[in-house]
Amino acid sequence: MAKKKPTYEIEQENGWLGTNAKERKQIFSFCENYRQFISTVKTERQANDEGVRLAEAHGFTDLAPRIAAGERLKAGDKVYFSVGGKTLILAHIGTRPIVEGLRLIGGHTDSPRLDLKPRPLYEEGGMALLDTHYYGGVRKYQWVTTPLAIHGVVAKKDGTSVSISIGENADEPVFCITDLLPHLAKEQSDRKLGVAITGEGLNVLCGSMPAGKGTQQIKRAILEKLHADYGIDEWDLTSAELEIVPAGPARDLGFDRSMLLGYGHDDRASAYPAIRAIVDQDETPEYTAMVLLCDKEEIGSVGSTGMNSFLFENAAAEIVNLCTEDYSDLILRRTLRNSKMLSADVNALHDPNYPEVSSPNKNMAQLNHGVVMTKYVGARGKSGSNDAHAEYVAELRALFDDAGVTWQTGEIGKVDQGGGGTIAYMLARYEMDVIDCGVGVMSMHAPMEVVGKFDLYMAYRGFSAFLA
Ligand code: MN
Ligand code: MN
Repeated sequence: MAKKKPTYEIEQENGWLGTNAKERKQIFSFCENYRQFISTVKTERQANDEGVRLAEAHGFTDLAPRIAAGERLKAGDKVYFSVGGKTLILAHIGTRPIVEGLRLIGGHTDSPRLDLKPRPLYEEGGMALLDTHYYGGVRKYQWVTTPLAIHGVVAKKDGTSVSISIGENADEPVFCITDLLPHLAKEQSDRKLGVAITGEGLNVLCGSMPAGKGTQQIKRAILEKLHADYGIDEWDLTSAELEIVPAGPARDLGFDRSMLLGYGHDDRASAYPAIRAIVDQDETPEYTAMVLLCDKEEIGSVGSTGMNSFLFENAAAEIVNLCTEDYSDLILRRTLRNSKMLSADVNALHDPNYPEVSSPNKNMAQLNHGVVMTKYVGARGKSGSNDAHAEYVAELRALFDDAGVTWQTGEIGKVDQGGGGTIAYMLARYEMDVIDCGVGVMSMHAPMEVVGKFDLYMAYRGFSAFLA
């Protein structure tokens, strides 16, 4: 066959076309493990715990006792550090002096959901309901009439806490938010989509059987059951974090099972490949590899477990201290400045149902076209964006191409359509190179989001190449 004349243009096709039977088997196997991960991990606390379990199974140990003992870290050591049981940091110490920089992948493990209010339980109209305050960018109309589960913890005054998880197993009950019947929805249907269902209207139906005759007996019956099952009372609910999330497992999507439908792809579609990339790393890396999975991204990365806190800097300081003979603030600053980062978060895929919002001329990420490198996010003229340097993009192009990682560019929709942000700019404050890189998603922030298995696997391959 005659050699094809180079065209000098980007030629990209559906990534499955370039896979053989063996690779397809690897992709399906990786994605089945991911499917099970997101089917059980529905909260940031569960992500932290499962991340710790995976890390320990691969030889990682808790950094906290080593910090307390001042025990040195050397090349090849694998450690994890949990902040508040919600944010997790994994590190694999490299052969080069740490001051030469880290290779950092940062994602988040919190997802949009409905949180219970401090006094959630009330009775009205012969039913018991739970009052909620939604968390993150929720499109309220999507959360009615779908089976819901409750996950979380109740902290008690004696210092103990109780974990609650109801609604995942087939023999467990679920919860739901009711909606109007079409016959009586004329006025509601005429309202704008964003206000047809209100935030204050997201009340979760949770019981209807009274404890006895009289008022408030349904609420009383539920409090009696909560006390019998968990030893908690209504006051204990004031010191609780109980999250209402879609019930049930993630599922293979499509006749060909090429996609996954599930809750929390944003951003566990980054968290899981990132965890796997560092725990599967058999050889000691040159640069210290680090994975950062943080909480509170969906509400602006605030709070002590959010990226806007000093948690990363503090953890990095502890690690630099245990890796160097003469710790100083300057060595820490140099370490961070010399670091490189993938801000691992999902991006929007082109959706043929809504082509009008896509960035035109192939600037929108496409399903099955690989992991997405997003030079900038932001809104209204790139506002709030980290906007990665061209030189860094070129460096990663070379890295991914050499490693055989299928990747594509992405942009969050067409200009002035809307936009969004990630944790990228917060790490860029240290002067390190940062770029957004992750999996494309459809129906982002919906109770059930869609990702492609090929793209998810390429995120894992890309993250692995980056940390190597
Ligand atoms: Mn995200
Ligand atoms: Mn999000």
